[in-house]
Amino acid sequence: MAPNKPLLLVDRFGRVVNYLRVSITDRCDFRCVYCMAEDMEFLPRSQILSLEEIRTICRAFVELGVKKIRVTGGEPLVRKGVVDLLRDIGSMPGLNELVLTSNGSRLAEMAADLRAAGVKRLNISLDTLDPDKFRELTRTGNLQRVLDGIAAARAAGFERIKLNAVVMKNRNHHEVADLVQFALDNSLDISFIEEMPLGQVDRHHRGESYYPSDAIRRDLSSRFNLQAVADTTGGPSAYYRVQGSASRVGFISPHSANFCGSCNRVRLTAEGRLLLCLGNEHSVDLKRVVREQPGDIAALKQAIVAAMQIKPEKHEFNIHEQPVILRHMNATGG
Ligand code: SAM
Ligand code: SF4
Repeated sequence: MAPNKPLLLVDRFGRVVNYLRVSITDRCDFRCVYCMAEDMEFLPRSQILSLEEIRTICRAFVELGVKKIRVTGGEPLVRKGVVDLLRDIGSMPGLNELVLTSNGSRLAEMAADLRAAGVKRLNISLDTLDPDKFRELTRTGNLQRVLDGIAAARAAGFERIKLNAVVMKNRNHHEVADLVQFALDNSLDISFIEEMPLGQVDRHHRGESYYPSDAIRRDLSSRFNLQAVADTTGGPSAYYRVQGSASRVGFISPHSANFCGSCNRVRLTAEGRLLLCLGNEHSVDLKRVVREQPGDIAALKQAIVAAMQIKPEKHEFNIHEQPVILRHMNATGG
């Protein structure tokens, strides 16, 4: 290989990996019913990557050609030092895009600092506009705080803000049109997500609450004219534009429209496991590499390149059966 040519991360199926999602904590101030059980045990701090270790791993990925990093969790904004970490990652030469996913609970205080730190785009989770339902779905959350956070994020001038809504039959499926209207009124994008069977949950049966993207599109069609667009932000959403507005409506359909063929991403968990696929357990322990050979970025890069060989072809979710994947979404880095 030519000495100055950047290495590329390519898996056995020819897919180029240029997108890393980093979970910087498994902790969260919410307990969303689709994401967590009510009683969760979080990882002891010694098992969580330090901010320095996260920086080093991100640097290795960027040197290997990763162009986009999404910082997520758990709730990333509950981790101390997150703004400095984002600034450091955002200034890495070669990285084009630093983006963040948040539940919005701390955005009212932090949005301006996040924008100043170099975060370009923001995803904010919002499943309902009804305060009681919001409390029921998040178990601990306060809708008004999140709405204030969204307003602060709009004022801070992010390039794009997207809402994420997990849609569950008989819980919030009847609100999809109101959520789109809220997105339009606030010049936001919105993606609807089919619930994935990650980890045991205790408030509902996932097969019974499954609400497919097709049904959402049908529900929306009586109020909005949706036109399919080829826009891609490098993620798994299929996008539509609402006629007469700049907002886009996306559908993330892990069950009804498998998106694995174009998968360009891997995930780093808070405890330093590099997960090669959301729906499989194939992983490599990068924490061991950074702790056994601190500062040896070449060793880290070698481990990451080798990991591409075990990236699975696709996920196989079955919403009607007990989850095969025992880790919850907060431990996965959604
Ligand atoms: N706490 C932040 C938040 O809620 O936006 C970031 C982490 S959260 C795990 C990332 C995304 O995963 C959120 O949009 C959330 O709705 C989604 N999510 C969590 N559990 C899920 C599940 N079982 N199926 C589908 N999406 C899920
Ligand atoms: Fe927390 Fe996000 Fe999971 Fe909700 S979806 S419990 S906000 S990590």
